[in-house]
Amino acid sequence: MDCLFCKIVNGEIPNKTVYEDDRVLAFYDIDPKAPVHVLVIPKVHLSGAAAVTVDTAADVAHIFEVIPQIAKSLDLTDFRVVTNNGPDAGQTVGHLHFHILGGRVLGEMG
Ligand code: 5GP
Ligand code: ZN
Repeated sequence: MDCLFCKIVNGEIPNKTVYEDDRVLAFYDIDPKAPVHVLVIPKVHLSGAAAVTVDTAADVAHIFEVIPQIAKSLDLTDFRVVTNNGPDAGQTVGHLHFHILGGRVLGEMG
């Protein structure tokens, strides 16, 4: 499958890893929208939030299990977690990812 984030998981494309375990990879966004901008992805390919099912919800739950320790390792107490589903919502990579944004005062969601 021609998926950018699967290639990152497979090591075909380099990344700056922040956290990794058997199910999750977190790495710095290549084009940061905040002083701290990290992407957290399941290693299994899911096209987006709308593709999560009962069979894959545990992977998403695990992502939220590790987000607190990722945030702590980044010295973030206040941060935003967001995912975009579909082009109209701003999704540009078709592999589920959660943005962790922080390091500045974040404005209201648009
Ligand atoms: P989306 O727009 O789909 O919600 O988020 C995709 C994110 O992936 C964007 O913030 C973009 O900067 C980031 N991104 C795109 N290509 C790469 C890449 O090759 N490496 C990394 N680290 N981030 C990427
Ligand atoms: Zn993928």
